[in-house]
Amino acid sequence: MEILFLGTGAAWCTPEYSCTCAICSKMNALGEERTRTSLLIRNDESLLVDCGPDLRLQMKANHLTRPDAVLITHEHGDHFLGMDDLLVFRRSIPAHAWHPIPVYATETAWKGIEVRFGYLLGSLVEKRIAVPGMMLDGLKTRVTPFKTFHGPSAAGSVGYIFETNTAGQYGKLVYTSDFMRIDDEPQLLENPDVLVIQAHWLHEPEFNRPFHMSLQSALDYIKRWKPRKAVYLVHISDMDLVPGDPGNNFMKKIPPRSPLTIPGSDLPYPVPTCSDEWQNVLDRIYKDYELPCPVFITRDGLKVIH
Ligand SMILES: [Zn+2]
Ligand SMILES: [Zn+2]
Repeated sequence: MEILFLGTGAAWCTPEYSCTCAICSKMNALGEERTRTSLLIRNDESLLVDCGPDLRLQMKANHLTRPDAVLITHEHGDHFLGMDDLLVFRRSIPAHAWHPIPVYATETAWKGIEVRFGYLLGSLVEKRIAVPGMMLDGLKTRVTPFKTFHGPSAAGSVGYIFETNTAGQYGKLVYTSDFMRIDDEPQLLENPDVLVIQAHWLHEPEFNRPFHMSLQSALDYIKRWKPRKAVYLVHISDMDLVPGDPGNNFMKKIPPRSPLTIPGSDLPYPVPTCSDEWQNVLDRIYKDYELPCPVFITRDGLKVIH
């Protein structure tokens, strides 16, 4: 299974336009850019997972062709507002050669998506309903949605479990998308080969009003689900506080609740500002917390095969 990370940033991209905090400043200085989180999974077919407002740029950067299907995780703009850009695949072929692209989302998520893109249904997009716990119909890959909690404004949110069988080789990928917790964890979440999980912060904030996942909280899921080969972090934001940064008084910055510390000390791990710093911290946490497999920071355009 090939995973292509099209975008790896938060809702307003990371760095955020016009933000002068230490994280955005460092990323700007290095030319690091994370567009809205989206991934393409290729096996016997190509499955686009979320299509945010950066979809056109992501398609161009990665020379994408028409996806076989689109899976939407939830009804927030950074996860579906690029759907209209899929029209380009229809405009440059004869009309009779076109068949609509199947798009999966939960019934609740569709209510939000249809307000904006109802005019695409039938002609461009074929509406398909994702029911948590039930394998999606009509795909070559076994894909099972599972319910996640991402706050009241994303009541339709789900993650997806992908199971493949290539030349007799079973493979499982779990993708959680944006979430704060999972109330009813299906057993199928356990022992994936690969886990792709959100790390909106390194340290869990003292209040999590945006209902997102920090790496600190994600450690519980990593320890419990025991991924076999790798964990990849996505939806990276600039919301951790960096000590001494004047930007710490910005509205979006939330102090940590009880920062993740180096075992046997009360020293918190340093907040990473760029990709290299993230990977350094992750390598230390992997060893210090004896995680079941290595954890990797992603970047836009990263392609991995498992
Ligand atoms: Zn998001
Ligand atoms: Zn969201």
